[in-house]
This record gives sequence, C-alpha cells and structure tokens, in this order.
Amino acid sequence: MFYIIGPRGSGKTTIGKLFAESKGYQFVDTDKLILEKAGKSIAEIVEQHGWDYFRQLESEILKSIAQDDVIISTGGGIILADENQKVMRDNGTVIYLNAKPEILAKRLAAEPQADQRPSLTGKSLVEEIAEVMQQREPIYRATAHYIIDATQPIDEIIAQLNDLS
Ligand code: ADP
Ligand code: MG
Repeated sequence: MFYIIGPRGSGKTTIGKLFAESKGYQFVDTDKLILEKAGKSIAEIVEQHGWDYFRQLESEILKSIAQDDVIISTGGGIILADENQKVMRDNGTVIYLNAKPEILAKRLAAEPQADQRPSLTGKSLVEEIAEVMQQREPIYRATAHYIIDATQPIDEIIAQLNDLS
C-alpha cells in the first residue's frame, strides 16, 4: 500500500493515478471516497458540519481501506491527526510530494473550479498556502518514508516512485 501525502496542488491525485496504472494497482482518493460516502462536496460538508466532522470522516475512510495493492491519494490535511500518521506509516509506504507555496499557488490558480477546495483562512492564495505549509511541512516530512520533488516532470516522478518499489 502506498499513501501519497502533500498540500493541495502538489499532484497527489495526478501522480497517484498514474503510479497506480504503472504498477497495476487500484487507485483511491480519500477526498473522492468522502464525497461518495457523504453524498455531498467537501465544501458542503465543511460548511454544514465543520472541519472537525470532515476530519473525522477522513480518519474513518483511511482506516477502512485495507488492501495491499492500492495507491491512496490523501487530502492535504490528513496528517493533522496523529492517528492518521500512524495508520499510514504502519500499513504502507508514505510518499510526500514536496513543492514550494509559489508553485502550489500557481497550479491552484490555473484550476478554474476551486470547487472542492474551501479557503482555510480567507487570505490570498499564496499567503494562505505559505501559512498552512509552515505548520504542516514538518508533519509531512516526519510522516513520510520518502520525500519526492513534486516540481519535476510527471513522468520523472513516476519513474522515481517505481524505483522505490
Ligand atoms: P492534489 O491532488 O495534490 O491537489 P492534483 O493532482 O489535483 O493535486 O494536481 C494539481 C494540478 O497540478 C493539476 O492541474 C495537475 O495537472 C498539476 N500537476 C500535478 N503534478 C504536476 C507536475 N509534476 N508538473 C506540472 N503540473 C502538475
Ligand atoms: Mg487531489
């Protein structure tokens, strides 16, 4: 089992899908599973029930995935719960896709539908990302077995991941 962690825009979904394809594994995205289970968007869940409720759903979903040949792309905040860090480290290989806030902001800004990505603070995108990363970067690093430079071309990232396994 491989878990892909990192901030919004780091490429978790994109890379996870392609890595799964190249290994012949199944692909799951925790954000997508939550959406399917709750029957509403993440924005709606957060709006109606708050972040704590969303985080709770996320932990439940994470624990419910029990399969060896699967690549799991996670939500950016999954590492905030100690329990989730442990579940991932104990059950598989954790990969952190690392990129600077400027790059992440550029990628997110290029996506017209900011639909499932509610603002966390109400600040400008790059400011918000930098602030969130200041808190989360050490946690991503501590949780990961491998840290991958997410600014490389996609096929190089996939080749690197295939070399790990
Ligand atoms: P996440 O799931 O971590 O939020 P996504 O996989 O949705 O990230 O990727 C965010 C955006 O960045 C998408 O438009 C995707 O095509 C682009 N992207 C992802 N990885 C790379 C990369 N290595 N180089 C250039 N663009 C990338
Ligand atoms: Mg994603």
